[in-house]
Amino acid sequence: MIYKEFQDLKLSALGLGTMRLPVAAGDDARIDEAATEEMVAYAMEQGINYYDTAWGYHNGNSEIVMGKALGKYPRESFYLATKFPGYDLSNMPKVKEIFEKQLEKCQVTYFDFYLFHNVCEMNIDAYLDESYGIYDYLMEQKEHGRIRHLGFSAHGNLDVMRRFLEAYGKDMEFCQIQLNYVDWTFQDAKAKVELLREYHIPVWVMEPLRGGKLAKLPQKETEILRNLRPEEGIPAWAFRFLQSIPEVTVILSGMSDMEQMRENRKTFEEDLPLSQMEMDALLSIAAELLGRRLPCTSCHYCVSHCPKGLDIPFLLELYNEHNFTGGGFIAPMALRTVPKEKQPGACIGCRSCEAVCPQQIKVSEAMADFTEKLK
Ligand code: SF4
Ligand code: SF4
Repeated sequence: MIYKEFQDLKLSALGLGTMRLPVAAGDDARIDEAATEEMVAYAMEQGINYYDTAWGYHNGNSEIVMGKALGKYPRESFYLATKFPGYDLSNMPKVKEIFEKQLEKCQVTYFDFYLFHNVCEMNIDAYLDESYGIYDYLMEQKEHGRIRHLGFSAHGNLDVMRRFLEAYGKDMEFCQIQLNYVDWTFQDAKAKVELLREYHIPVWVMEPLRGGKLAKLPQKETEILRNLRPEEGIPAWAFRFLQSIPEVTVILSGMSDMEQMRENRKTFEEDLPLSQMEMDALLSIAAELLGRRLPCTSCHYCVSHCPKGLDIPFLLELYNEHNFTGGGFIAPMALRTVPKEKQPGACIGCRSCEAVCPQQIKVSEAMADFTEKLK
């Protein structure tokens, strides 16, 4: 196992993300505890010392099951991370109650790593609202040693991250972002890494395989990579990409079975960053995969022509994300910040935008399709 230095700690470069633990009868709330314990035993034996859970994973049961599974090992032999669930605004006034409950659920007296969960467009104002006292409370827990290291995870855009960092950046010790060779450009991950570099904040990675989408590539792309590194499997390329980014410290993989765990562990026996040629090849594959998106350049020519005043480029960006991911929570979450009369469903199909779009995008069809997919 490769280890990365973080302050005075040595963290395994591969961490176990626990939002996709094995479940019984396809029910996300019913974690298969025996299978999870087996995975944790294997992970501990193989030197994985970082475990990431959260209040909401598996309907609240991930913290409980991980607490039980890790409880068999000496407390100092693993690093446990969990998060304040600010993705739900109704939790904002309950930081103390939730934090105490999390310690109880995980059967620990302190968390090694604690994060503001999912800083994004929807909750940034609330996270920055001092009247909730979230930041003060968490800093106090840190002073008392109940939080060893404080950080945040972010699904928001660059501006949202910047606002958060301007307010709390000096106290943030790490940041977890969605980073992989597709999101390097698609979700602006490159710019996010650069922003974090300005604050000297190391990067924790989530979704290295984009929910499994990068574990398997089309035939043509697979051949290209196989010719470059015949010994490397396709999922390993996603990890080698991350090993090429110096700021990356911990890479979390939401493993669901022993097979994935064995394969990932093998990849992390060595740090094998990509050469420039390999990096170029991988990023062209990413561009190819993204090629099926609508080619909106965000020129905004169309916006003043829309009788409903829709922010068309913003909506198309979300539409692309939703299509590429095959659904997911990101677009619906971002749309919660948009009033009903500015949502894709408000489009009346007049096509005024299409008449001026230099990319000849069929915006009206996209809006109708998006509305349907969001139902
Ligand atoms: S087709 Fe829809 S998005 Fe385009 S201008 Fe008309 S209302 Fe606006
Ligand atoms: S005019 Fe076309 S390319 Fe420009 S922002 Fe509108 S939809 Fe996108």
